[in-house]
Parts: sequence; structure tokens; C-alpha cells
Amino acid sequence: MADTYDVVILGGGAAGYTAGIYAVRSGLHTVVIEQGMPGGQIATTDMVDNYPGIPHISGAELGQRFEEHAASLGVETVYAMVTAVGHSEQGFILETGPSGPIEGRALIVATGAVPREVGFEGERAFRGRGVSYCATCDGMFYRDKTVFVVGGGNAACEEAIYLSHIAREVIMVVRRDEFRAPKGIVDELNEVPNIKVRFNTSITEIRGERFIADITFRDNVTNEVVVEHFDEGTVGIFVFAGTLPVTDLVSGYVELGPDGGILTDENMATGFPGLFAAGDVRSKRLRQVITAASDGAIAATSAYHYLRQ
Ligand SMILES: Cc1cc2nc3c(=O)[nH]c(=O)nc-3n(C[C@H](O)[C@H](O)[C@H](O)COP(=O)(O)OP(=O)(O)OC[C@H]3O[C@@H](n4cnc5c(N)ncnc54)[C@H](O)[C@@H]3O)c2cc1C
Repeated sequence: MADTYDVVILGGGAAGYTAGIYAVRSGLHTVVIEQGMPGGQIATTDMVDNYPGIPHISGAELGQRFEEHAASLGVETVYAMVTAVGHSEQGFILETGPSGPIEGRALIVATGAVPREVGFEGERAFRGRGVSYCATCDGMFYRDKTVFVVGGGNAACEEAIYLSHIAREVIMVVRRDEFRAPKGIVDELNEVPNIKVRFNTSITEIRGERFIADITFRDNVTNEVVVEHFDEGTVGIFVFAGTLPVTDLVSGYVELGPDGGILTDENMATGFPGLFAAGDVRSKRLRQVITAASDGAIAATSAYHYLRQ
């Protein structure tokens, strides 16, 4: 027998837990299903400085607080990976392997996003052997070493500053001739003595035996190519080049936008009755904790109105 809820929320990040808080406070029997650590992506970053009312908090703590807040109001969390989403007249059935199926009359998809690869040769082969997408998780392996940070956006700048406290030198590799980050963080970055920036540059290939030894850089203006050599184990590459929405479980039910995210209306409704989407999984311009939380609140309210009909 499947456990049946009014609302099942798939994903325990900022969007999922905010949806949980709003759903349970509307009197809906609510569950969040999370495959990993509560908090989602934000739990992988060191400091969050732009969430209103909490000026300086570690990402892990903020993620933990989301779960604790939701649990204190009665939101259950089932820790399991959802492997399939089915639909019947009663609503949605989520397969979770050993935890058994979980049913909900409405479903809020809040599966978030995963890091986007930039696509240089060797990127996937050296993942975990010099290539990383999480400074908080892997930064400590590069104490007093050299790290390259690929990307010119907000996350790349923030993570470069974080890594500058660990690594001997941080070299940012920025494809264009300028950052895409807010001025405040760029000004802060420019004050850090062990961060250097290479604009108009891309990494095209990495090679090595076990770890990275040779990195090929291309000057995007002149197309000139340079190979730099390092002793294996002394260099890391951290990639922060945006994210890809995680939509595979529901792509048969919803429409996707040009960025791969789920298209919704302003009430977070997809075209499929009873199916709502919230957070980074949506097609949207600004993927942040505050916008994910906002989506979650709206999605839960919409689910409530849908169930009352
Ligand atoms: C390095 C980095 C730094 C950042 N810094 C900031 C910052 O300073 N400020 C800010 O506002 N934002 C920041 N962000 C962005 C912010 O983390 C995201 O916008 C926000 O976390 C999105 O929340 P979400 O709930 O939509 O998705 P996510 O946080 O991605 O959560 C989705 C959850 O769904 C779960 N899930 C997915 N598939 C399944 C499945 N099949 N079964 C079960 N569970 C599943 C995942 O495990 C995950 O926990 C940063 C992001 C990164 C990567």
C-alpha cells in the first residue's frame, strides 16, 4: 500500500521546504521526498550573504534550518530517491525503490538543478580527480596549491573568494572580457591579493595520468593556444558555469523552456492538472534561494486552491 498525502513535494531544497511550510500551514497532509542532504544546492556553498534577515550564514546551516523549520510545523521528510513519477485518477504515484511508492493528490516538483559542464576535453574523465563543482566539498584538497575557477558569474566569484583562503593562488578563467556578477562581489574579489583573472580565456583540454598535469588554455580573441604543465596533484579546476534544471522525471508531463527548465504560469502551475513546479527546476532568469523560496510558497498556495476545487 502506498502512503497517500494531499501534497507530495519532490526535492528538499529551498523551494521544496518553503512549499512544505506553506502547504502544512494550509492544513494539507504534506511530505517532502529528498535523496540527499536537506537544503539542496545551497548546502554546498560556504556563506550566504544575500538572504534577507540572515546576513551571514553558512549554506549548510541555512539548508538545515529549512528542514528543521518545516519539520517543526509537521512536514514529514522521506529520505529516498524518486525513480519514476506516474499518474492515475487519484493523483500522482512516486516510486522510491525500497521506501515504496508514495501517492499525492497534487505534486510540487522542486528537484532543482545540477552544475553545468563547460565541455572541455577531459572534464568528465577528471571529475573527482582534479575537476570539481563544489568548493565547500573539495576546496580542502587544494590547501596551498593552485586552483583555477572557471566562470564569470556570481557563484564563480563567491567560490573564488572562498577558495582564496585555502589555496595558494586562485586563477579565474573567464570566457568573456568581463564578469557577469554584481559590482559588489567583483569589487571584493579585486581586493583579494591571491586571486588573478584571465579574461577572454577558455580551458579546452586537460591531460594527466591520475590527476591533472597539463591544461590547455585558449585566448578567445587571438585563438592562441598555450599548454601549462603542473605536477600531478598540485592543481585543481573548479567549474561554476551555471546549472541545468533536473526535469527528467516529469518531462513527459510538462513543457520545457529554452533553458531546459519547466514552464509554469505565475502561479507555478504547469499545463498538467495538479502538477506544480518551484525553484531552480523552473525556466527562469534568477536562480537563487530567495526566488526558489518564493516559488515554493506560491506553488503550495496553488496546490491548496487546486485541491479545494
Ligand atoms: C556553489 C553555489 C553557490 C550559490 N550561492 C548562492 C547564494 O549565495 N545565494 C543564493 O541565494 N543562491 C545561491 N546559489 C543558488 C541556490 O543554491 C539555488 O538557487 C537554490 O538552492 C535552489 O533551490 P531549489 O530548492 O530550487 O533546488 P535545489 O537546492 O537544487 O534542491 C533540489 C533538491 O531536490 C533533490 N532531488 C532532485 N532529484 C531528486 C529525486 N529524484 N529524488 C529525491 N530528491 C531529488 C536534490 O537532492 C536537492 O536537494 C548557489 C548555488 C551554488 C551551486
